[in-house]
Amino acid sequence: MGCVDLHLHTTASDGVMSPSEIVRYAKKRGLQAIAITDHDTIEGLDEGVSEGERIGFEVVPGIEISAEHSPGSMHLLGYFFDIHHPLLKERLAYLQNARAERNPKIVAKLNDLGIKVTYEDVIRASGGGQVGRPHFAQVLLDNGYVNSFQEAFDRFLKKGAPAYVDKLRFTPKEALHFINDAGGVGVLAHPNTLGTNGYADLERLIFQLIEYGLRGIEVYYPEHSGLAVAQYKALVERHGLLATGGTDYHGLEKDGLDIGVGRGAMRLPYSLVEGLKAAKTRR
Ligand code: AMP
Ligand code: ZN
Ligand code: FE
Ligand code: FE
Repeated sequence: MGCVDLHLHTTASDGVMSPSEIVRYAKKRGLQAIAITDHDTIEGLDEGVSEGERIGFEVVPGIEISAEHSPGSMHLLGYFFDIHHPLLKERLAYLQNARAERNPKIVAKLNDLGIKVTYEDVIRASGGGQVGRPHFAQVLLDNGYVNSFQEAFDRFLKKGAPAYVDKLRFTPKEALHFINDAGGVGVLAHPNTLGTNGYADLERLIFQLIEYGLRGIEVYYPEHSGLAVAQYKALVERHGLLATGGTDYHGLEKDGLDIGVGRGAMRLPYSLVEGLKAAKTRR
């Protein structure tokens, strides 16, 4: 049985490969299935799923939604939802509108700092998909304002930096509601970014999320230490949740990280996909 990768980005959000390209790449690398989980958009799913059907490769429809949370950040993954579900489509359109209002504000802040970039430059960098901060970073890099992608975030784009503009987010309850309403399975992405204070604090949060409809935790993730993985596995077992995992591969900007294997050690069995399918039918 081959391995799987259940957390991937494409040009529909801020990844480098188009949905068809990433599906072909995953097959070439010997994976058995992938999920496409772009930020706040399902625009890449039709193409990715069709390409999978064309070349005989399983593509799981997915999404990664940024939810309101502090002090860290919370991302929720959704899998196997109906991509034509009206509430899901309406909620995502709302996020797209919010981005359309936010992006020109980032351009204006950069312009105020003496940086001559236009919204057109950023749209071009996005390759026609959803525009996000990584595309601003790319434009700053391409125009010589910074020497690296990371410097663009550190000096201008990250939270608290001078060109940062906050993004509209749903609450975890709202996000899990529309994922579930669309027949999907909601999973907490990379819990290491939540900023929780120890196991008990994380467990309290998980309790709350289960009440809102959470079904799983992304246990396996390149940035999770062995200790973190052990903690998340314990939580999954104690609360009857699913374990999932993925690399969060965006393309070529993360040195040394690759689809399916992360930074080398990841091997996720197909049983993770079976777990998601079983959870979907158990609802
Ligand atoms: P956006 O959805 O437009 O706010 O952009 C979020 C994306 O920007 C994330 O998915 C990351 O890929 C990237 N990102 C956010 N913060 C940082 C950071 N501090 N350094 C590098 N990349 C970041
Ligand atoms: Zn991203
Ligand atoms: Fe994420
Ligand atoms: Fe991601």
